[in-house]
Amino acid sequence: MARIIDGTEISRVMREQMAQEVAALKAAGITPGLSVVLVGNNPASQAYVSSKTKACEALGMRGQTLNLPENVSTQELFAVIDRLNADSSVHGILVQLPLPAHLPYKAVLEHIHPDKDVDGFHPLNAGLAFVGDPRAFVPCTPAGIMEMIRRENIPTRGKHAVIVGRSLIVSKPLASLLMAPGPDATVTLTHRHTQDLASFTRQADILIVAVGKQNLITADMVKPGVVVIDVGQNRVPDDSSPRGYRMVGDVDYAAVSEKAEAITPVPGGVGPMTITMLLANTLQAARQMQARGTSGNPR
Ligand code: NAD
Repeated sequence: MARIIDGTEISRVMREQMAQEVAALKAAGITPGLSVVLVGNNPASQAYVSSKTKACEALGMRGQTLNLPENVSTQELFAVIDRLNADSSVHGILVQLPLPAHLPYKAVLEHIHPDKDVDGFHPLNAGLAFVGDPRAFVPCTPAGIMEMIRRENIPTRGKHAVIVGRSLIVSKPLASLLMAPGPDATVTLTHRHTQDLASFTRQADILIVAVGKQNLITADMVKPGVVVIDVGQNRVPDDSSPRGYRMVGDVDYAAVSEKAEAITPVPGGVGPMTITMLLANTLQAARQMQARGTSGNPR
C-alpha cells in the first residue's frame, strides 16, 4: 500500500516558516500584499480566489480581491492592472483564469509587471525559469510539486519522470524543472495525441498526471513502486457532500495505491502546495522589491 504524500501537512510546515518571514518583513515596515483580479462570477474561480486571499491573511500578508464584471472591457481591465503595477503596497498580482472569451488572456497576462507576476505566466518569467535564473517566478503548481518531491526525499537523479499533459501552467515548466541540473531526471512529456500512452506511463519511476480526466490512469498503466503525483481536479456529483460534489484526481487512486510506493491524494496533495507556492512567490516579490527599493521598475 502506497505511502500518502500529504500536501496539507507539508504546506502547514512551510507556511509556519513563511509566517516568521512575513513578521520580519512587517517589522521592517513592509506588509507583503497579493492582489487577485477576478472577472465574472464563475463559482469555481470564486472558491479558488477566496482560498488564495484567505491563505495570505492567515500568514499576516495582505490579500485583496478586485471583482470585475463579466463584461469588463480589455481597456478597463488593463487600467486596473496598471493601477496595481504602480501601487507600491502591492507585491503580487494575479489574474484568475479562465477569463471570459472576449478578453485576450495572453495580452492580459503580459500586462502584469514581470516583477509582480507571482503566477509566473508572463513570458519573461517563463523564459527566466527556462534558463534557470533565480529571479524567475516559477508557476505555483510545478514549484509545489518540486517542493513536495524534495521534502519527501523522492530520488530523481537518473530516474524516469513521465508527465501526462503539456500545459504551460503545469507540465512544460515542470519538465524543465525536473530535467535541470540538481533534480537530473530523464523526462518524457506526453499529451492527447500520444500513441499508446500506457507504454510510457508503465516506464515511469515518477508519474505526474495533469490532464483533468477522472480515472485516466488505471492500475495496469503503472509499474510497481512508482511515485504518483496526481494534479487533476475533477468535480464528481456527490449527494452526501453539502456542496453536492467531491473532488477526484486523474488517477484511479484506490487501485493505483496498491502498486505505488507513494501517491498524492486529491484533495490534500498538489492543491494546497499550489497555494503555498503562491504565498512563497508573493514573499519573494516583496523581498525583491525591498532589495531594489522600488515598486516594479523595469529590469
Ligand atoms: P489543460 O487543461 O491546459 O490541458 C490538459 C492537457 O491534457 C493537455 O495538454 C492535453 O494534451 C492533455 N490530455 C488531454 N487528454 C489526454 C489524454 N487522453 N491522454 C494524455 N493527455 C491528454 O491542463 P492544466 O491546466 O495543466 O490542467 C490539468 C488538470 O490539472 C485539470 O484537472 C486542472 O484542474 C488541474 N490543475 C490542478 C492544479 C492544482 O493546484 N491541483 C493546478 C493546475 C491545474
